Amino acid sequence: MKYISTRGSSREYTPSAAVIAGLADDGGLFVPTKLPKLDVSVADLVGKDYRTVAYEVMKLFFTDYTKEELTDCIAKAYDSKFDTDLIAPLCEKGGQYFLELFHGPTIAFKDMALSILPHLLTCALRKNSIDDEVVIMTATSGDTGKAALAAFDSVPNTRIIVFYPKGGVSPIQERQMVTQKGANTKVVGVCGNFDDCQSKVKEMFSDPHLAEELSSKGFRFSSANSINIGRLIPQVVYYVYAYVRMVESGAIENGTKLNFTVPTGNFGNILAAFYAKNMGVPIGRLVCASNDNKVLYDFFRTGKYDRRREFILTTSPSMDILISSNLERLIYHSLGDDATVNASYMKQLLTEGYYEVGSSSKEYMKDFVGIFANESQVKETIKYYYDLCGYVIDTHTAVAAYANLENLKNDSTRSVVISTASPYKFTKYVLDAIDPKLVSSDDLQMADTLCSVSHVPVPKAVSVLKDAPIVHDKVCSIDEMKDAVREFVLG
Ligand SMILES: *Cc1c(COP(=O)(O)O)cnc(C)c1O
Repeated sequence: MKYISTRGSSREYTPSAAVIAGLADDGGLFVPTKLPKLDVSVADLVGKDYRTVAYEVMKLFFTDYTKEELTDCIAKAYDSKFDTDLIAPLCEKGGQYFLELFHGPTIAFKDMALSILPHLLTCALRKNSIDDEVVIMTATSGDTGKAALAAFDSVPNTRIIVFYPKGGVSPIQERQMVTQKGANTKVVGVCGNFDDCQSKVKEMFSDPHLAEELSSKGFRFSSANSINIGRLIPQVVYYVYAYVRMVESGAIENGTKLNFTVPTGNFGNILAAFYAKNMGVPIGRLVCASNDNKVLYDFFRTGKYDRRREFILTTSPSMDILISSNLERLIYHSLGDDATVNASYMKQLLTEGYYEVGSSSKEYMKDFVGIFANESQVKETIKYYYDLCGYVIDTHTAVAAYANLENLKNDSTRSVVISTASPYKFTKYVLDAIDPKLVSSDDLQMADTLCSVSHVPVPKAVSVLKDAPIVHDKVCSIDEMKDAVREFVLG
């Protein structure tokens, strides 16, 4: 198995080299030269645990990792950091199925991929005889920063520095980050907004002098970005796992089609579902659920991707995106792996703000259905499940839960809603949907309130914040970010 760029540079990468590089040098995304098929049957996987399914899927994509290397990465990632040995529990609530992907250390689904990325990366460095210590540098608007910090905490031969906009993240998010332990971690508040942080980080990534200075001391930069195949492929696993669990529990018969409804932002999660379908898992429709930023809903209806619109801030902020990076991989496949045409679309998106695909691409993508939920529909859906069965879902999951019920109006296929965050991550919005009188100004107090209405214990990720000591208090200006990196790495 080799990986090539969606934009046409001819070089082929081994899987481990693609994990290290992250992005292809022509700006494209890495895609497998051929999508693999599962070589075990669903029946064989019934009764197997998450780690076993993970191995059966990942071995087909990370072909230059040995069996020992891959099982070791999987064992280190999916362990007691998750609050259940099921890792991704499937539950039936109010007549629908939910795959809960928020049982990891930071109670959001980013943990599913970020838990394994550091291990895939350090193993890849060893395999490619790179001795450098890796420095992960990330700008965050809130969620990814904490998930990456937790993932790289104490991982040998790695360090991670996270920049966040001071005053631009929620109090809980800031507290989660500044209390991060681990001698190899660093968190810095920046006097500026998220765009300032991100632009500076990008600039530092491509600063040859800084790279040289670091490399002379045995360090190199890397990124934990969501388009790395080291983040995408681990997400294929839980679609296979969910299908197996549905068969195991008797909810469907083996071979029957199953739909998935995915709350979508950068298009990574739902693309992983599409890869699982291509591997031979009997998956039917993929319902792509959007919030008011419904650029994907419009795309799947018309074939025209048009980002020339207002950016809307919603109560599901991780889905507030107008350029869904991972869609590029689907476009590329839909063109019969034609990188030239894909590259021209991506250029047009950059320069003119839109592109439009032809009828054969549309045909290729016919199993994708776009549905969106507006803010009142999100609130009503949270309230609906709470009233129906006492189940509390977060705002992102509610977007998908709404889309799922809408799709069921003309499609009787069994479906699974992908649940991407714990309601404790968005306590205020969730309580407001259940009963506005429950909202207060104290986030930690609202967590206790949510506990009493949902009867789900406050997750450790939130309860530890009460007494956790603050270990990172550095704040700097945008111009001082480079010095902060130097100081952290070179001392
Ligand atoms: C990142 C995120 C999403 C969107 O996932 P994509 O893979 O970017 O489409 C949805 N929900 C939550 C809670 C997230 O953190």
